[in-house]
Amino acid sequence: MSERIIGIMGAMPEEIDGVISLLENPQRAIIGMRSYTSGTINGIRTVVVFSRWGKVAASATAATLIHIYKITELIFTGVAGAIDPTLKIGDIIIAKKLIQHDLDARPLMSRFEIPLLGLTHLECGEGQLDRARHAVTPLITNGILHDTIGKNVLDEFGINTPNLHIGDIASGDQFFSSDLQKQELNEALPTVLCVEMEGAAVAQVCYEHKIPFTVIRTISDTADEKSHVDFPKFIQKVSSQYSVLVIEHLLANHSGIC
Ligand code: SAH
Repeated sequence: MSERIIGIMGAMPEEIDGVISLLENPQRAIIGMRSYTSGTINGIRTVVVFSRWGKVAASATAATLIHIYKITELIFTGVAGAIDPTLKIGDIIIAKKLIQHDLDARPLMSRFEIPLLGLTHLECGEGQLDRARHAVTPLITNGILHDTIGKNVLDEFGINTPNLHIGDIASGDQFFSSDLQKQELNEALPTVLCVEMEGAAVAQVCYEHKIPFTVIRTISDTADEKSHVDFPKFIQKVSSQYSVLVIEHLLANHSGIC
């Protein structure tokens, strides 16, 4: 069996900095305007990189992880805007299906269909889903997130007990900040829980190279007119801590994701 090499991508530099601090013997390389830091976490070879924003940026980063670093698994961690009205700021979403909501080559093919793949969505593997669920659940049920971030900060963002959801995520090259955008997405793709700008693109690259992938997102905003409020503060004080805890638990000795 070949050695596991895990690629971790994040969409916010603050989140990635926290994950980099988990690496032993870190080594940095700059490739194509991105900084890749490789090392080990619990003895597992790991490469961590800020994806930059949007589908093209994230796809290029994933391709470098696959071709240059020879990763065997990819984990994406980041923030997302809520589409499902029951989601709250601070909730965690593990992607089941990922859809590129802005992909539309009609009338040549059906809406959302990825040209030449003949698929309208990509699905995370059952094994990845199970392991992500097992890693994230104790963070919530054992109060680990609560204790690490602290009640004062959580109160500031109106976070009580975060919930874990496993479901569909839509990605596209748009930052959602209006009710109208939300409504249109919800009508076209009613199962989508949240929206972001990278996950489905990275899933496509991984699918094409047979690399198992996991996408985990923290809800940072409600994807409407209130979207931009407190965004930087949320990233710094809450979601960057989430990312570190999630990665620590995913790569803990007892819960690999091979
Ligand atoms: N930090 C920037 C914004 C980053 S872009 C700034 O405010 O200056 C937003 C990132 O968060 C993307 O990686 C995207 O995947 C995710 N995201 C969070 N909320 C989103 C929303 N409402 N719509 C689309 N993407 C969102």
